[in-house]
Amino acid sequence: MHCLILGGTSEAAELARLVAQDGTIEALLSLAGRTSAPARSPIPTRSGGFGGVEGLTRWIEDHACAAVVDATHPYAARISANAVAACAALGLPLGLPLASIVRKPWQAVPGDRWQTVATMQAAAEAIGASPRRVFLTVGRLELAHLRAAPQHYYVVRTIDRPHDEELPPNSELVLDRGSFDMESERRLIRERGIEVLVTKNSGGPATYAKVTAARELGLAVVMVERPHKPVGEIVSDPAAAFAWLKARQHDHDGVGSERGV
Ligand code: NAP
Repeated sequence: MHCLILGGTSEAAELARLVAQDGTIEALLSLAGRTSAPARSPIPTRSGGFGGVEGLTRWIEDHACAAVVDATHPYAARISANAVAACAALGLPLGLPLASIVRKPWQAVPGDRWQTVATMQAAAEAIGASPRRVFLTVGRLELAHLRAAPQHYYVVRTIDRPHDEELPPNSELVLDRGSFDMESERRLIRERGIEVLVTKNSGGPATYAKVTAARELGLAVVMVERPHKPVGEIVSDPAAAFAWLKARQHDHDGVGSERGV
């Protein structure tokens, strides 16, 4: 069975590992191509956009994919909407099987000082009027919104180097892919005299240490809410996505499938 994994996350990498280990499903991992040196994958990989819903639909058809797993990041809403639309248009009448790995968002716990905002523009406002020292961990693509609040000093952490015009004026850059532990997050916050953390609610353990460190050190946190992200059949993690793929393979190959096809 051929299938497509939409990736760019640790979950997609883990699912690729499980599929490679199993060795019976022909899966291809798709990356948006935003990161210059993505981690090596144990299964074949493609990179770059498909060209909207139409391009993705054509691609899935041309590659005779029998199932799609959307393992993209909680803030990557456009590709997920495209996947839902493409899969609905294929494999009629039921649509092509689509599973979406949905990471649980982080929840505030006692001691957290979160201010939740809906957009990156609102995050820039929420930091406040007086100059503050800000730890900014929102990725590269939406950094430019913080240029609207040039009174602050920013420690900007990204995987790839942003363009100069994306960075707020008073900023220093920390290039790091993570994952991050409590000790290094605590050290960074203390050494840079950070007063506010601005982050997306990515969920998952890989980047949670900064939230715990912020709580421990009494920092204010500006938490940018998740966008609405269309989904297929929800699965909780890579292991569940892999089990779902094996079930689709079972159906596809007709061995003991409920429909007997
Ligand atoms: P997005 O806004 O949902 O997607 C924008 C466009 O990028 C899509 O319409 C699609 O282009 C292309 N694209 C996105 N993911 C793709 C994939 N896995 N394979 C092929 N094309 C893809 O996504 P984004 O927020 O820019 O994120 C891009 C990638 O980075 C995603 O794969 C995501 O998992 C990863 N990522 C995002 C964040 C974040 O905070 N947004 C954080 C960590 C990782 P076409 O319409 O031309 O097909």
